[in-house]
Amino acid sequence: MDTIPEILSKQKDFFKSQKTKDVSYRLSLLKTLKQEIVSNEQAIYDALKKDFKKPEFETFISEFGLVISELNLVIKNLKKWAKPKRVKSSMLTFPSQDYIYKEPYGNVLIIAPWNYPFLLAIEPLIMAIASGNTVVLKPSELTKHTSQLITDIIQKVFPKTIVTSIEGDVETATQLLAQKWDYIFFTGSVPVGKIVARAAAKHLTPITLELGGKSPCIIDETVNLKLVARRISWGKFLNAGQTCISADYIIIKSNIKDAFVEALKTEITKRYGIDPKESPDLPRIINKRNVLRITDMLEDSQVIFGGEIDVENCYIAPTLVDTPNLDNKIMGGEIFGPVLPILTYNTEQDIENIIWNYEKPLALYVFSNNSTFVEQTIKKYNFGGGVVNDLLIHFGNHRLPFGGIGASGMGAYHGKTGFDTFSHNKAISKRRNWSDPGVRYAPYKGKLDLLKKMFKYFS
Ligand code: NAD
Repeated sequence: MDTIPEILSKQKDFFKSQKTKDVSYRLSLLKTLKQEIVSNEQAIYDALKKDFKKPEFETFISEFGLVISELNLVIKNLKKWAKPKRVKSSMLTFPSQDYIYKEPYGNVLIIAPWNYPFLLAIEPLIMAIASGNTVVLKPSELTKHTSQLITDIIQKVFPKTIVTSIEGDVETATQLLAQKWDYIFFTGSVPVGKIVARAAAKHLTPITLELGGKSPCIIDETVNLKLVARRISWGKFLNAGQTCISADYIIIKSNIKDAFVEALKTEITKRYGIDPKESPDLPRIINKRNVLRITDMLEDSQVIFGGEIDVENCYIAPTLVDTPNLDNKIMGGEIFGPVLPILTYNTEQDIENIIWNYEKPLALYVFSNNSTFVEQTIKKYNFGGGVVNDLLIHFGNHRLPFGGIGASGMGAYHGKTGFDTFSHNKAISKRRNWSDPGVRYAPYKGKLDLLKKMFKYFS
């Protein structure tokens, strides 16, 4: 078996061969990838079920379905996206024809997390290949069945010189990061994001960091509480709350908190029954370490619903926590599980005091029918992206760029934005020869007035 430096060296040679510049070749690879994924549909459901009891329905809606839509989109549009784009020439380039060429970076490293292990490995891979790069992909070591299946699919579809999947843990990731890449795309936690950024800085390698954080969900008193509770019972407990853009905590107007809690209890029970452990629709926590981490976060919390924990079976019931203080453990970091603290506010200053206590989040949600409050909230806070009157759904529109800001990440992808992320915009001015205005040439004496007039005319 080749070592990591050998794999990369072969990919470097292949990139230099110019084969990946051929858009038809990229398209044929993407079409084969689609066929292989479609023929593995059931195997993908089975792998995710084995990894953390993820229901088929959730795997379809949040992994398989999104990957197939992205493939369909890129297969339909790649020729158009990859074409050099003509832009207007300027006074300084006239006479010229000016273009932006989409250029692949070269050899890309993708490091994926475990929480949407198929989607978050394959979606960046699709766009990196569409843009003409080679890829080494490291799927997560915590979802062994899915990662093995990803490796199998990649081996069947791609020559190793274009895409190789390397499974492994921190040690493997560390070896990979020690190489010189042309682009690194990382999805995962903030602390590891910083490690990736340090490794990239060594070679001035451009990066995308898709990280996490504590994403707030604000609810004012103008809402229909039953509808809000219904939508939150979906978005918060999908994937058992192990979603980077999950609502980490609620901030609700204090006078409607009790009614909201009752409505949410009712909705959670409708979704998962009296004993959610028996529900086929609630995934498990990825491993015992994470169950213990969340258990510890609950230590000084006032649990008002749920709270059942079975470490051996990686189970945590959908759990509600009543009005914690910001110094309670549950408010000390990203929860990343099916636990929802409910905080209250009376004034907008109260909301600011909570949100500005944390780093810029990946998502922010606001439930309100007051459009002034909604617009003010959207504009006031820095966050990656968000939804008004629902959770998560902005992820599902390929026309919306997806990414964080500040500690929740840098760069974005999804749809055409993903293609752009893995492409360098090469600026080319093609000078025409039929005219060569003399104004720029020395001696300059007597030309400044003419130059100023030209600047005025063209601007
Ligand atoms: P993680 O950072 O622990 O691991 C992510 C990847 O990094 C894995 O492949 C892992 O092997 C590798 N890794 C771990 N330690 C490393 C190290 N020291 N050096 C180099 N590589 C290392 O994250 P996770 O637990 O897999 O995922 C959960 C986190 O990811 C949460 O914080 C969540 O918010 C975030 N996330 C963000 C997005 C997004 O799109 N922004 C999506 C999913 C998850």
